Amino acid sequence: MKEVSIANVRAHNISPYFSSAYSSNNDALLDINNRITRNESGQGLSWLEILCDDFGHRKVGSTALEDAIDWILKTSRAEGLSAHTEPVTGIPNWVRRHDRAFVLKPRIHRLNVLAIDGSPPGTVEGEVVLLRHYDEIPTANVSGKIVVFSQDWKGYSRTAKYRKSAEKLEKRGAIAVLVSSVTPNSLYTAHTGAGARGSKIPAASIPPEEAQMIGRWLKRGISVRVRLDITSTNLPEPTSSRNVILELKGTELEKEVVLLAAHVDTWDVGQGALDDGGGMAAIRQTLLAIKRYIDESPQNRLKRTIRGVFFTAEEQGNFGAKQYFADHRNTSEKFVFGVETDQGAFRPKNYNSRFEFTGKENQKSPMSKVVNDLNDLGYPISLKDSPSQGQLKYLADTGVPTSIYVSDRGDDFYFQFHHSNADYSSVFEAEDIDQTAAMLAIVALRFANQ
Ligand SMILES: [Zn+2]
Repeated sequence: MKEVSIANVRAHNISPYFSSAYSSNNDALLDINNRITRNESGQGLSWLEILCDDFGHRKVGSTALEDAIDWILKTSRAEGLSAHTEPVTGIPNWVRRHDRAFVLKPRIHRLNVLAIDGSPPGTVEGEVVLLRHYDEIPTANVSGKIVVFSQDWKGYSRTAKYRKSAEKLEKRGAIAVLVSSVTPNSLYTAHTGAGARGSKIPAASIPPEEAQMIGRWLKRGISVRVRLDITSTNLPEPTSSRNVILELKGTELEKEVVLLAAHVDTWDVGQGALDDGGGMAAIRQTLLAIKRYIDESPQNRLKRTIRGVFFTAEEQGNFGAKQYFADHRNTSEKFVFGVETDQGAFRPKNYNSRFEFTGKENQKSPMSKVVNDLNDLGYPISLKDSPSQGQLKYLADTGVPTSIYVSDRGDDFYFQFHHSNADYSSVFEAEDIDQTAAMLAIVALRFANQ
């Protein structure tokens, strides 16, 4: 592969991917960028739409997930990518059934309830106690009561714990919990997620609108009575699934691997387009574009291996990633860098978009250079230190530098759809998948060929 130089781009101070001035430039990064965002524009989203529309959601334990995995293998091999799966076992298998919940007093109202993963079945009726803050749990008088949590949105990482409060409330004597959905904004949307495994009391989410209505009644001194009829249940046997691996082999240092990560499984609502179908579509497009680039000329070679891994059972607690990194730990392979997209494969629209990085200071400078390249190519993106590395934390823990892509729409916008029936591919525009793929391609090529 030719040595890359974007200094000329910097000198011109323009955004080349909006310009034709660089289309004839031989530079590998510009070539890949233009290829994905112009010549092959829209391919990633088209693939994602078929995946989502034809298979539906991809919860572990479902045939839809395993059929979707087979289709991902088939469509990737058909384009010439190396593709295989690796088994993942021992995944908890909670299944949603026909759950119902009603306000009985002060008037009959059916709640838009969505059970939380791991919730046991149960029919429960009782008076409601409303809590607003997590730190009320140790002292609140909830014994024999149904707790409604009506918390404020404080960003995902600080709000998700409310969805995970069932076991703590059970210990305080509560008989069930209804949690205002973990979202910054709602159009009567309920959001599911992990959080009730191990709980002996039923736990479900409701739209914030309903939690707030209950709060207003209680504030006016009107007592509220609720009945839950939860039939969702934990199946006695764990289930299994597969991690999906798509790969372009390096020619010089084949055992050194640049890892691009997303996840193939979803919750059992919506289509799992944002979480995380878009991540898979972008990574697959990255690999296809690099493959086509390599195929075009014998001088275009890959020094190290670039590997896309779509982990399974992320939603239940990173089961696929945990097993993958355990299985690949003491092998002759060496991971040189990992990057994940799982917070929406949206194109960056402003500098709140970022790569969140974990690694030593000397490991950071290559990533800083990549971010400079991306800025020169017109992508508004920054680099930020962050200890939280999603599924790549197991890699980061072994000293390998890792990064998470978060677009400006990954903080609040994304969480309006996350884990809800509104997670459809309609949220994306073709440019979102294109530009995410192009950025990942530039990251991957830089680390693969440095
Ligand atoms: Zn996800």
